[in-house]
Amino acid sequence: MPDKKLFAIFGNPVKHSRSPLMHNHVFKKLDFNACYTRIHLEEGSRLRETFFAQKLQGANVTVPHKEAAYKACDEVRGFAKEIGVVNTLINENGRLIGYNTDADGFLFAIETFADIRKVLIIGAGGTAKALSMRLKAEGLEVDVLNRSEGNLAYFKDCGFETYTWDSCPIKTYDLIVNTTSAGLSDDALPAPLELLEALLKHSSYAADAIYGKLTPFLQRCKKMNITYKDGADMLLGQGVLANDYFTNKAFTLHEIQDVMKESFSF
Ligand code: NDP
Repeated sequence: MPDKKLFAIFGNPVKHSRSPLMHNHVFKKLDFNACYTRIHLEEGSRLRETFFAQKLQGANVTVPHKEAAYKACDEVRGFAKEIGVVNTLINENGRLIGYNTDADGFLFAIETFADIRKVLIIGAGGTAKALSMRLKAEGLEVDVLNRSEGNLAYFKDCGFETYTWDSCPIKTYDLIVNTTSAGLSDDALPAPLELLEALLKHSSYAADAIYGKLTPFLQRCKKMNITYKDGADMLLGQGVLANDYFTNKAFTLHEIQDVMKESFSF
């Protein structure tokens, strides 16, 4: 029997992550000899040395280390290369290979929303980059709103309309997405209440990248009768694609998805 492969998720915070549950369930049910743990990492600059010191075969990376993960790689493949954001790492014969599965995971999540053409992304971090670039590639019109100016430079350079809280006009969007970590481990809204309510009033759908709780943002959407979803489907979508890399395509995406979905009821 080949040696057990070890996988992990890096983040800070990371104790909330459901990824170990999801991937371990797939490994067990599909009889793949591996186990998946979580690693609390303070310094993104220590990601690479920690990955190899722990003898990992692969990993996921969550907030706030996805851009550090990009820098840690020997080679970055696919969409991750375009955006400089990596959430999945594979040890390929001692070389660290990076991918991004968040963006396609999000497309999977919003499949049930009809006629989405104009989207407002709130936040300007790694997830915002992945989602906005992927949605733009699908031909959607995307604006970006962030609390601070600094991280908006990337989006401006890529041709997006960008706003801070003070400069944001009230426009009509089909979908508003919270990609900030506001609400993850606090009760914060991703933008001032007055601005959010004015924007949501003109919006049909809302989504939050955060999963497992009704964030203050989603509580507001619920109150305003807007169709919304939390980040669970995105989590499933990105997890299925990551597991496909971890298991080196030993199973079909459908097999992984069916089994991984079971873990959401635990
Ligand atoms: P980053 O750290 O890269 O970016 C965070 C962004 O949130 C920044 O733009 C930051 O603004 C903004 N922000 C942070 N706190 C607040 C606040 N209190 N109010 C307003 N804005 C704030 O994070 P990621 O993009 O990696 O992740 C963001 C969230 O998405 C996390 O909660 C993560 O768990 C979730 N996620 C979920 C996934 C899923 O599968 N469901 C997949 C990926 C991510 P500034 O630029 O001013 O610092």
